[in-house]
Amino acid sequence: MIILTVVGARPQFIKAAVLSREFSNHPQINEIIVHTGQHFDRNMSDLFFEELEIPKPKYNLNLHSLPHGAMTGRMLEQIEKIILEEKPDYLLVYGDTNSSLAAALAAKKQKVKIIHVEAGLRNFSEYMPEDINRILVDRMSNLLFCPTDFAIECLKKEGFESFPCKIIKTGDIMQDSALYYSKKKVNRLNLIRKLGLKNKSFVLCTIHRAENTEEKNKLSTIVQDLNKINEESEILMPIHPKTKKKIEEFGLKPQFRTIEPVGYFDIIELLKHCSTVITDSGGLQKEAYMFKKKSVVLLDFIPWVELVENGFALQSHIEKDLIYSNYKHIMKSNPDFSIKLYGDGTTSKQIIQYIIEDYN
Ligand code: UDP
Repeated sequence: MIILTVVGARPQFIKAAVLSREFSNHPQINEIIVHTGQHFDRNMSDLFFEELEIPKPKYNLNLHSLPHGAMTGRMLEQIEKIILEEKPDYLLVYGDTNSSLAAALAAKKQKVKIIHVEAGLRNFSEYMPEDINRILVDRMSNLLFCPTDFAIECLKKEGFESFPCKIIKTGDIMQDSALYYSKKKVNRLNLIRKLGLKNKSFVLCTIHRAENTEEKNKLSTIVQDLNKINEESEILMPIHPKTKKKIEEFGLKPQFRTIEPVGYFDIIELLKHCSTVITDSGGLQKEAYMFKKKSVVLLDFIPWVELVENGFALQSHIEKDLIYSNYKHIMKSNPDFSIKLYGDGTTSKQIIQYIIEDYN
């Protein structure tokens, strides 16, 4: 069986790492990887393929830094050609990016079955690019692998049970990655020591969502509150290239420490040693919990509702002093990290079983 996997962005490389390894060990599966090029800086892309030993993509479309329409359109055209050439049995996509949408659309028109990993999530935000992509990819998919009960419920409410697709809860593939890579011995320089953070308390912070970085007022409020928190506890921000550009463009003055984006092994090390996490990243808020850290999440709605319900994450709107007070608030709480929210690290194995069953 041929599975054509299309990835393009950092979180998708981390998810693909575990599943692609399982695919390469399976005698019945031949996986072909397409990298759309959406993320292209070395430390947002190649580093992950090298460190996580992801099989080299057979195709790299090198499509990036384009408006949504142009990017999605060019990907659609290129992926269609690859589908006609490779004749896959399935096309597999992760999450909610333009790469996922373009790939799913190309596959559907060529009558290729679509597998969506991390299906069903919703932000209920009509114009949020991620939500538009998720809804459309879900609607076209044949196998919908959902990480949580919330994702299943969303699909049911939208009537997916009457569509010709299979809806399956498998747990979260990022839990597989976190367990697998945190156990792996890596021979490299200790980042915490290199940054002088040994035995120091610090807050790990990432910001990259369009809704937080595109308006000057919003990003300025975030930077001001982070500066205030930084006076009490050091903030470390591996800064996304897009956020860096916006901070410079708006002339904002972060007083906290920023570093270039780091690889997955380094982010695991930072997660293990930090006191808490402040983020707008879907992946990092879950990983905070996986490494037993609380988080303040700078989004108006969090589709990972179970993090909030169980007190692991506190959702914060962007208002002056509110991020600071939410940070102070969560520092005092003591949630029970023994609760298992995202499965036991067998998501990739389950996904393969269901694919094989569907194929046979
Ligand atoms: N990440 C990383 N290095 C960094 C920042 C984040 O490896 O410097 C990882 C993080 O641990 C998570 C993933 O990148 O697994 C999240 O990606 P991102 O925040 O870009 O996307 P989102 O999760 O919001 O879709």
